[in-house]
Amino acid sequence: MTELLFRDDAYATEFEAAVTGGVPGRPVLDRTLFYPEGGGQPGDTGVLVLPDGRELVVTDTKKGVEAGEVAHVLADAALVLAPGTRLQGRIDWERRHRLMRMHTCLHLLSAVIVAPVTGGAVGDGYGRLDFDLPESPESEEVQEKLNALIKRDAPVSFRWITDAELDAQPELVKTLSVQPPRGAGRVRLVQVEGIDLQPCGGTHVARIGEIGEVLIAKVEKKGRQNRRVRLEFPGVAATIS
Ligand SMILES: [Zn+2]
Repeated sequence: MTELLFRDDAYATEFEAAVTGGVPGRPVLDRTLFYPEGGGQPGDTGVLVLPDGRELVVTDTKKGVEAGEVAHVLADAALVLAPGTRLQGRIDWERRHRLMRMHTCLHLLSAVIVAPVTGGAVGDGYGRLDFDLPESPESEEVQEKLNALIKRDAPVSFRWITDAELDAQPELVKTLSVQPPRGAGRVRLVQVEGIDLQPCGGTHVARIGEIGEVLIAKVEKKGRQNRRVRLEFPGVAATIS
């Protein structure tokens, strides 16, 4: 098992850890701040620093082969690190913070557009949610509402509930395609005070004012009942998938 340090502190950028295993080019550590791709949020990038000062570039982070493990995808795909090797890790904080801002913004979008969410993804500077809606939402109106919410600068907080408690409140689950991670017996709820409450394992900003201004890049019809709403931060080229 890899201890998920980003769960306790999404703002930490550096940590110390030891190699516990993995495959060539993908070491597994006993603890990490690198978020593994999942729940629509991409994996973190950064560096692992060996005791001799050598920096290993981490190009992506994935869930490991074994449940509960995090694999750090190295630029050097052949490199093998011996178990027990101590190292320091440092995530690319500027990129992660943009991902946290957009990820949290998608929670707000799901509060502005009241419809079941059928899919979603976060990227660096952009994001999207798919809604089960017969009519397209009005883009300018959504953008105004979203930015007005962000200006409220509400705090984001977390609490854990049991799987059974979640089963008793199915209305908490807005995302039809991405079910909250179960099996560990408990699920983390993310609360944007007064605005949104839903289970989520991703990383979020502490206050929504940090998101800053967002734009609705596009509203697309993806099937008879599906509307895709794409967001971006100003100044980001909309070469988005
Ligand atoms: Zn989330």
